[in-house]
Amino acid sequence: MLDTRTRREAAYGAMPDASGLNFYDADPNLARALRLRLEPDVFAHVEPILREAGEVAGGELDRLAREAERNPPRLITFNARGERVDEVEYHPSYRAMERVAFGRFALAAMSHRPVLGFRAPAPHAFKYALSYVLVQSEFGLFCPVNMTDSLARVLRLFGDERQRHVHVARLTETELDRLYQGAMFMTEKAGGSDVGASESVARPVDGGWELWGEKWFCSNVSADLILTLARPEGAPPGTKGLGLFLVPKRLPDGTRNRYRIERLKDKLGTRDMATGEVTYAGAFAEQVGELSRGFVQMMVMVNSSRLSNAMRAAALTRRAYLEALVAARGRMAFGAPLADLPLMRETLVELLLDSESALAAVLHAGAVFDRADAGDAEAGRLLRVLTPLAKFSLCKRARWSTGEAMEARGGNGYIEEWVNPRLLRDAHLGSIWEGSSNVIALDVLRAIERDDGDTALFADIEGRLARLRDPLVRRAGALASGALTRLRALVARLKAVDRPEQEAAMWRLCERLARLWAASLLLEEADAEAGERANGSYRKLVVAVEYLRRRLLVPEGEVWLGPRPAAGQWFDAVVDCAPVPAEAVMPLLEALAEEAP
Ligand SMILES: Cc1cc2nc3c(=O)[nH]c(=O)nc-3n(C[C@H](O)[C@H](O)[C@H](O)COP(=O)(O)OP(=O)(O)OC[C@H]3O[C@@H](n4cnc5c(N)ncnc54)[C@H](O)[C@@H]3O)c2cc1C
Repeated sequence: MLDTRTRREAAYGAMPDASGLNFYDADPNLARALRLRLEPDVFAHVEPILREAGEVAGGELDRLAREAERNPPRLITFNARGERVDEVEYHPSYRAMERVAFGRFALAAMSHRPVLGFRAPAPHAFKYALSYVLVQSEFGLFCPVNMTDSLARVLRLFGDERQRHVHVARLTETELDRLYQGAMFMTEKAGGSDVGASESVARPVDGGWELWGEKWFCSNVSADLILTLARPEGAPPGTKGLGLFLVPKRLPDGTRNRYRIERLKDKLGTRDMATGEVTYAGAFAEQVGELSRGFVQMMVMVNSSRLSNAMRAAALTRRAYLEALVAARGRMAFGAPLADLPLMRETLVELLLDSESALAAVLHAGAVFDRADAGDAEAGRLLRVLTPLAKFSLCKRARWSTGEAMEARGGNGYIEEWVNPRLLRDAHLGSIWEGSSNVIALDVLRAIERDDGDTALFADIEGRLARLRDPLVRRAGALASGALTRLRALVARLKAVDRPEQEAAMWRLCERLARLWAASLLLEEADAEAGERANGSYRKLVVAVEYLRRRLLVPEGEVWLGPRPAAGQWFDAVVDCAPVPAEAVMPLLEALAEEAP
């Protein structure tokens, strides 16, 4: 067990890390959080798969990821005869990781057809949980995995007969030599956030379309099927005039399609995955869905990718916390393990709160995703606002958590032989791509204004708080209800001010909304834990109340001199997910009831 191993070995000069641990077994919180959101038989079915993934993530995948990052892909523009080939050469370690993600764990297939012993497509919460375990070791590859998965979704929803059957079958292959990987080329020099400014054009030709133009950021640039936007000649300006097209890498006669990969980007992170610049030089393309709804259909892929990004941010946050904990428990300073020093405990608790709240958000969003897909309109409205909210808050926070975890490892944290620099680099990308944070925050505003997103979100939170049963958890729930009332009033005021003020308020407002949502999820988990017949405990309530205090009730700049159960007497129990009695949380609850607004 993580606790005994690292604590016993605490020593001066020790430099432990988390490699070699089973990332599933080392994370009992994951099992608890997932059990709450899956049927018992489904949980029993997936647990061995998660355990296997935990072993892979802590060992083989971690090693491969390190190797792949040191050996980034190369663009081969010409062959020996001077003919244009535009191929990307990947290191064998990257290919081995592809076999793990696409093959062994079938991550791009599982939402579309039964795999891994399921009789139907797997629940999203499981897909996110499995990815979360693996992404703790490798971030970059999960961009192609997600795009392949999301492209299959778009084609299933909007594609013609052939696209829905032939292409989706290849996109969901688990045999690597038959697999078609997906990509999404949208961003242009003229239009990233402002996609409507795109300049690529589409011309009708026999049996399809021909595309002309340049795409400026193209991840998984060597993909077999590319979803892209272009403006049919004569179509109106802006996003309304954009059509959605599918560009195959190879033409039916086996020759390469007419687009060039100009060069690969020299990136800060995800260095093992190829992002390139592409020129369409009359590339053959198939139309996807209705021409006039191109952008709306593309947003299905974008939104599914945004949630996947939130999941990946949760994974980076978890690994960051795990590394900080292992390092601080194993290393001595001033006569004690670092993890016993009060101020280091504060750092660790902050990271733990980020990690557990992020996981709860991702798993809940996954469950809502399934309900929305099953036709639940209310869940659809909720997902509309949860998607940008999760992307904004989790990705933004992962930048902070990975940075703090780097510092918790001291100088070693800054050295490339340790995992921290990679976590930090990747975390910074999460909040830039798939819509940078400001753009995402404005999408939350759009969800509020056009789609009644605030009503859906507040109803979801309110319902959860009302369902709390344990008396102590309900007391904490009352504090969250107070925050809900204040936030509702704030959103009502937001609706009454001018657009510039609305936009300017969105960063902080998104933070507040996301935190309240997360707090309600932690309370729900606390209620389930307290209500367990055999092992009832208030460990999660400690986490939830600490979260409420630090993220919602006491202003961030304020100095807190009150009780700190998670960082104090109950620290070990909280980080080891061991039972915690009611007394642990009472003083903090009482102090908050007195001091909080
Ligand atoms: C490594 C990497 C891989 C990528 N892969 C892909 C890919 O595969 N496919 C693809 O299509 N794209 C890809 N992208 C592009 C990415 O999605 C865009 O870079 C991103 O959406 C931002 O667009 P932009 O770069 O044009 O920035 P801009 O649109 O110029 O934005 C610059 C800044 O302004 C902010 N901003 C924009 N509008 C507003 C507003 N109204 N109010 C306030 N602030 C605003 C943005 O939030 C951002 O911070 C990738 C990017 C990177 C870095």
